[in-house]
Parts: sequence; C-alpha cells; structure tokens
Amino acid sequence: MRKVEFTARPVSCSVNPLTFDRELCIGCGQCASVCQVDVMAQFEKGAPPVVLYPGECYYCGSCVMVCPVKGAIHLRHPLMNQTKFVETRAAGEQAER
Ligand code: SF4
Ligand code: SF4
Repeated sequence: MRKVEFTARPVSCSVNPLTFDRELCIGCGQCASVCQVDVMAQFEKGAPPVVLYPGECYYCGSCVMVCPVKGAIHLRHPLMNQTKFVETRAAGEQAER
C-alpha cells in the first residue's frame, strides 16, 4: 500500500481566538477533536494543539467546555460578540448596587 503523508501549517489571520496555558494544558487533544471546523490539530501528545485556521473559528465555545483542565484554553471573543454578552447570576444571588 502506498504511504501518503499530509503536511499542515498555520494560516496567518488577523484574529487569534485561542490561547493555551502551556503550564496547565495536558495535551489530551479533546479540544481539537470536538471542534467541528478543525480550527486546530493535535500533533504532539502532551503539548497544546496547533491552531491552524484561526479565521474559521465561529466562537461556539465547545473547545473550552470539553477541556478537562480549567484555564488551559482561553477563547477570546471579538469585540462585536462581547457587546452582546449579558451578565448572569446564580439563583438567589442579588444584584450589586
Ligand atoms: S470555539 Fe468552536 S469553532 Fe472555535 S475553535 Fe473552539 S470548538 Fe472550534
Ligand atoms: S482539551 Fe484542554 S488540556 Fe486537552 S489539549 Fe485542549 S487545552 Fe489542553
């Protein structure tokens, strides 16, 4: 059978939606696996994934939600998204005045 090798390199983009804390990330690759548009790829076990296509991210947040280590991955939303965020409170929590 003929062996086929694929290569990939990051595509430069004006946005940088994902950052990893290399101290916290255990390199499990779950964030890369869950991403439906393959923004990143896990090349090296134990190291954070490589963000290949940052411009394809649609900020669904799945990669952050699936990560087993709190704070290992950070998703930075663009300003136009941030203006739509609303503050949420736990049940029974009072608003500060
Ligand atoms: S926020 Fe969604 S689209 Fe963007 S990298 Fe994470 S899983 Fe992929
Ligand atoms: S899911 Fe979290 S711990 Fe696993 S590779 Fe991604 S950022 Fe690192």
